[in-house]
Amino acid sequence: MSSLDMEKLVSLCKRRGFIFPSSEIYGGIGGFWDYGPLGVELKRNIKDAWWHDIVRTRDDMVGLDCSIIMNPRVWEASGHVGGFSDPLVDCKKTKERYRADQLWVFIYRFNAKDDPGKHLEFWWGSLGGAPEEARKAAEARAAKVAKKLGQPLDSSVTGYMQLAPEDRDKVIGPSVDEAGTLTEPRSFNLMFKTFVGALESESNVAYLRPETAQGIFANFKNVCDTGRVKIPFGIAQVGKSFRNEINPRNFTFRSREFEQMEIEFFCKPEDAKEWYAYWRKARFDWYVKLGLRSEKLRLRDHDPDELAFYSTATADIEYAFPFGISELEGIAHRGDYDLTQHMKFSGKDLTYFDEESKARFTPHVIEPSAGADRATLAFLCEAFHEDVVENETRTVMKLHPRLAPIKAAVFPLVKRDGMPEKAMSIHKCIQQKFASFYDQTGAVGRRYRRQDEAGTPYCITIDGQTLTDDTVTIRDRDSLKQWRVPSANIDTIIEDLITGKTTVPGADSAN
Ligand code: ATP
Repeated sequence: MSSLDMEKLVSLCKRRGFIFPSSEIYGGIGGFWDYGPLGVELKRNIKDAWWHDIVRTRDDMVGLDCSIIMNPRVWEASGHVGGFSDPLVDCKKTKERYRADQLWVFIYRFNAKDDPGKHLEFWWGSLGGAPEEARKAAEARAAKVAKKLGQPLDSSVTGYMQLAPEDRDKVIGPSVDEAGTLTEPRSFNLMFKTFVGALESESNVAYLRPETAQGIFANFKNVCDTGRVKIPFGIAQVGKSFRNEINPRNFTFRSREFEQMEIEFFCKPEDAKEWYAYWRKARFDWYVKLGLRSEKLRLRDHDPDELAFYSTATADIEYAFPFGISELEGIAHRGDYDLTQHMKFSGKDLTYFDEESKARFTPHVIEPSAGADRATLAFLCEAFHEDVVENETRTVMKLHPRLAPIKAAVFPLVKRDGMPEKAMSIHKCIQQKFASFYDQTGAVGRRYRRQDEAGTPYCITIDGQTLTDDTVTIRDRDSLKQWRVPSANIDTIIEDLITGKTTVPGADSAN
């Protein structure tokens, strides 16, 4: 998918009601997004699939729902107050702010026009998660200069953070034409601050949580005391997190308010390596099972110098988004760092007593930490297809039936002869189990197209024959196959298709 197609996706999301810019009627607000009628169902289905597969169907997992604002000591213990910061750079001219670790400097050398022996250098700053993402903008600037000076002699790229301080003055910022407008990198804490109670004083400062994980650690003892759990076990939480990102961008990928789906899996220290390997694979397979193609996904193990000092291993699950390969989820072996920190700061005993071995120890932790919004974006990118049907370009969202916002749409072929009544009764029957949509407006072909864009896997049409033999037509979104089934148990037929129990006639697999 090219960058143009990312624009198409963003526009489809707006047009069909998947995702809107937040408070758009007031000009929006950077880094905040709203999910529309289809988007809210899609994101909920993703979170439900995660909860179902991770919590409900396992005997070694329990759930939790913590408050967003916690005692600020939590964030001192976790290291977020002292260390949760990104290096930022200001442009003195435009007042824009950039993440210094995402600012790449492309150095191009040209022959001076009137003095071929003399060389001219341009140090263009360009933004991107990686140099490849930033390259396009620098190349466009180089192409403009090449019109006057001829082709560049050579070029190289380096990170703004890696430049010697005296070289930073040579850099031309992303939105200006002159060098020397960028500041030195400075540390910027990403936590949103607020005040609890009536007084806006330093002693009342609190933070909107930047991750859901710490609420799990803070409740470790509470959960153990309920007596439902025995190590190895995990605690899972889905909820909002907030980070005052310097450069929110790439649609919902980097937002300032987002949802996380996090697991802290507690185990014996000697078993932690094995559990790390288990979760690393299990989490990768989960995305593949729900339709992300494995050639677009990759598991990237962190290099030793990338690891946090307490972590012995960390891997990122990355997806090839149209704007570059970027992180969907991180799986970290965190050792006993978090529980030890919270013991130190709270003074409470968070060790675990193992009844079997009669041993007391601090559990080790494996943390698979996923973003619901990034997962939603990846599934949307993967689903977006254009094909030609009856000489017309069709946009179709090939979402996995489990994730599709609407599972079935029901149409009367025409608005008479009792067809609307029959269609409505079928719609009401399906609605008891799944999200269904009733549509009687316009030509049936147009109704199909609308559902293709919404990602609805099955459309059911009631026609003249229905009134004589009580059968209806099911149309499959992806293969466009149509077949007749009795209307009597249509809800079960659709359920079996969605769950993969049955397949589209003549197809290898419905999913
Ligand atoms: P990045 O390096 O992209 O900023 P991170 O390594 O800081 O991410 P974590 O702190 O490991 O991310 O958070 C776990 C998950 O939460 C990420 O894999 C991602 O899915 C999600 N996430 C983190 N920051 C954001 C954000 N600003 N917008 C949307 N999702 C996010």
